[in-house]
Amino acid sequence: MSIGSVKRVDLKPKDYKSEVPVVWCPGCGHHGILSAVYRALSDAGVDPSRLICISGIGCSSRTPYFVNSYKMHTLHGRAGAVATGAQLARPDMAVLVLGGDGDGFSIGGGHMPHMARKNVDITYVLFDNGIYGLTKGQYSPTSRPEMKAYTTPYGGPEEPMNPLLYMLTYGATYVAQAFAGKPGICADLIRGGLEHRGFSYINIYSQCPTFNQIDTIEFYRDLVETVPKDHDVTDLGEAITLSRQSSAGRAPMGLLYKVNRPTLDQRMHAIVEGVGGSPDYDLNRIIDLHRP
Ligand code: SF4
Ligand code: MG
Repeated sequence: MSIGSVKRVDLKPKDYKSEVPVVWCPGCGHHGILSAVYRALSDAGVDPSRLICISGIGCSSRTPYFVNSYKMHTLHGRAGAVATGAQLARPDMAVLVLGGDGDGFSIGGGHMPHMARKNVDITYVLFDNGIYGLTKGQYSPTSRPEMKAYTTPYGGPEEPMNPLLYMLTYGATYVAQAFAGKPGICADLIRGGLEHRGFSYINIYSQCPTFNQIDTIEFYRDLVETVPKDHDVTDLGEAITLSRQSSAGRAPMGLLYKVNRPTLDQRMHAIVEGVGGSPDYDLNRIIDLHRP
């Protein structure tokens, strides 16, 4: 759903809080992201009765419980697949996925490229803390080799993946990154994702002080660097260059990429309309929709 095409409501961030108490550890970065989610929903004027929050498993996957909305707490790694189905069934609803790096890129890694290439009209907020927190500290796809975790007491043998580069490569139409210590920036980027028609991916660094001793709030604060003011968000090459800064020990913060192309539900609607409407099924119209 394009938030811009439906009636907006005028609610305060606190109106998006549910009755469920927040149970994360003190100092967890997820608290900052949650406050950003409340603010983004308020700023975008999303009607809670037109919102579905979906998650898999993990500390961050508890987030839908804390949001005043419809919600689905699904299987580990399957939030994106369930969200795709929910969006196709109810294109009149806003669909927000809230989950972590292990859930999204390890167990759920098979779903990520397909949501991006299909341009499913959902907003995916990934709480990236470089560890599995709920299961008490295992190495994740975004862990740095220096991190000693329960499963890697001598450090890790793998290089971390680059979520931004991955999403840009597979065709996401809105790609952004922020850090939980800057909830105002997080809120603006999440709002932008909600208002974008298409697959919006927002990677948010979030410290886990309980199990990840190296990716501290200070580390992330020094790591992130605001995207240059003159960055052209429609230039994929420029966005990819920015996304690769992380290999040089820096990470871009802001909106990297934003373009428009038909979404999965728009394409499916056109096909159904074409097949069901008349024997003169207009294939050219479908092909036109698929052109970049
Ligand atoms: Fe946050 Fe880590 Fe505690 Fe989970 S274990 S709530 S990610 S600090
Ligand atoms: Mg994690």
